[in-house]
Amino acid sequence: MAHVKLHIPGPVEVSEKTFKAFCRPMIGHRGQGFKDLYAAIQPKLQALLYTKQLVYLSTSSAWGVMEGAIRNLVAKKVLNCMCGAFSDKWFDVSKRCGKDAEALQVPWGSPIRAEAVDQKLATGQFDALTVIHNETSTGVMSPIYEIAALKKKYPDVMFIVDAVSSMTGIKLEFDALGIDVLLAGTQKAFAMPPGLAVFVCSPAALAKAATMKDRGYYFDLVEFQKNAEQSMTPSTPSIGHVFALQSKLEDIFAEGLEARYVRHLKLAQMTRAWAAKHGFNLFPEPGFESVTLTCVSNGARPGGRVVDVPKLQKLVKDQGFLIDGGYGKIKGTTFRISNMGDETEATMNQLYAALDGAMKQL
Ligand SMILES: *Cc1c(COP(=O)(O)O)cnc(C)c1O
Repeated sequence: MAHVKLHIPGPVEVSEKTFKAFCRPMIGHRGQGFKDLYAAIQPKLQALLYTKQLVYLSTSSAWGVMEGAIRNLVAKKVLNCMCGAFSDKWFDVSKRCGKDAEALQVPWGSPIRAEAVDQKLATGQFDALTVIHNETSTGVMSPIYEIAALKKKYPDVMFIVDAVSSMTGIKLEFDALGIDVLLAGTQKAFAMPPGLAVFVCSPAALAKAATMKDRGYYFDLVEFQKNAEQSMTPSTPSIGHVFALQSKLEDIFAEGLEARYVRHLKLAQMTRAWAAKHGFNLFPEPGFESVTLTCVSNGARPGGRVVDVPKLQKLVKDQGFLIDGGYGKIKGTTFRISNMGDETEATMNQLYAALDGAMKQL
């Protein structure tokens, strides 16, 4: 069967070079070979996240670390900032972990604003907070630097930030942000196969975790730190992913971080322009559009063009491209186009040509 190229917001297309690295012969995860591998990529991971902390690798999808952060860091009550399917779900996950949790819900399409977070934290009820930087379901990027600035006012509140679909696509300076946990899965803007999460914790998060009795083992932050100090992971990692990550970091630094951020922004702007050309509105509140994907309104917002989304998807799929038909309660009234990972102006233009062709038949 011919491969259909992925322009859904994760997993995204994986390069031949990355796949080759992924498929290298196995090595032992307690041997010198693995330690050398992890030690070799550690400085690049630190440069990528602008941190002096050790960066951890978890063989899990992002949700593993998202749940683990709750188990490690919430003693009193967590404020879950909710603005779409993934961030809404985090509230549910907090409760399933047996934690006292409160929702800060804003309408889908709106960002989380620092003022609203400030108001909630001012009650003094919370010792942790979750925010999704790039809410993939709505294509909204929340102003994470403004939100993180609140950490100075509330130093005892653990700031847990999901950058699953933005990490590597936009600058996220962990140490300067001053937050406590920053995490991502590799199948989004890293353009790697799913199954690995990359994350970093503050010294304060590690100290807090050490006081938590029921933090479990698999996602124990203290174990991650202890092992990372030896260039190891707590349990057997997906070694293929670590080879793939080594290869991907080579690519990222060959291109240059700044160039990578500029490329992502430019491609997102091209997709927004494609949508405007065809009379569509965008779903996100203006000024908060994601740089890694575009969530196009298809009736979810007043005015603007409305098409048969499954038909649009089928017409572009027949030309070799997969786009997303909308997520959760905005399925069909939106559709999403990803530009994250390895895409270029040339590859995006091929997609727009296919979309243009499809639009003529709608
Ligand atoms: C994809 C995604 C997740 C979930 O990731 P999994 O890999 O399915 O665990 C969480 N948050 C955001 C913002 C995402 O885009």
